[in-house]
Amino acid sequence: MEEKYCQSCGMPMGDTDEMYGSNLDGSKNKDYCEYCYMNGKFTSDISIEEMIEVCIPHVVNEKSGMSENEAREMMKELLPKLKRWS
Ligand SMILES: [Zn+2]
Repeated sequence: MEEKYCQSCGMPMGDTDEMYGSNLDGSKNKDYCEYCYMNGKFTSDISIEEMIEVCIPHVVNEKSGMSENEAREMMKELLPKLKRWS
């Protein structure tokens, strides 16, 4: 199975639908995670630069050995390819 990433923050969403955001009608939204998208809208109206800064501590935390700068470079590569930002 193809790994799914949130199309807003780039977070891996795993194999279940637990991380998915929700549409206005209560159904799951498979493009975005629950932190980015709830009840049919984005939880915060932020720019891609702000999103990168928000994500960096999580990326550094997850990938031990990665520096803040490396995480920032990675997010700058990844985020513009995602649906929300393209
Ligand atoms: Zn997300």
